[in-house]
Amino acid sequence: MTRRAIFPGSFDPFTIGHYRIVQRALDLFDHIIIGVGVNTSKRHLFALDTRLDIIRQAFASEPRVTVKSYDGLTMDFAQEADARFILRGLRSTADFEYERTLAEANLHFAGIETVALYTEPDQAFVSSTVVRDMYTFGKDIAPLLPPGVVLPDDKH
Ligand code: ADP
Repeated sequence: MTRRAIFPGSFDPFTIGHYRIVQRALDLFDHIIIGVGVNTSKRHLFALDTRLDIIRQAFASEPRVTVKSYDGLTMDFAQEADARFILRGLRSTADFEYERTLAEANLHFAGIETVALYTEPDQAFVSSTVVRDMYTFGKDIAPLLPPGVVLPDDKH
């Protein structure tokens, strides 16, 4: 049986921390579908197309990873993707408390198991918020993105 997981998130933008979680989880799952959540009540810095493009670049040579956007509930996205697992990452006790309630709801209502991996210690400080702040104030964010990713603006 194919072990399929979704990795859902806002990914505004997808960081080296997210990238490493997916790379490590490829040891556990046959296929990982990265789901970029389109949450209309949440304001984003990077356009949906840019967020998808960054992830597609990061996994261009990895056929076991696919990327999609979704709106609505994550549990519905998992079921549509025929995935029995949700992959998440944990950096802190704050992440743990937040993830725990989501995991309990997804198990209770949809029978979907959450598999959470601890961050690697040198990436515990990496968050999309830090990357957005640095980008907004003109800093080079390349070291915080997956290796080899070029932001669309840099292509001109
Ligand atoms: P959401 O908006 O759903 O919280 P994010 O895009 O912020 O989504 O993050 C998606 C997942 O990746 C979450 O489980 C989050 O805890 C995890 N994550 C974010 N940054 C890191 C990191 N540096 N190391 C490990 N996991 C991380």
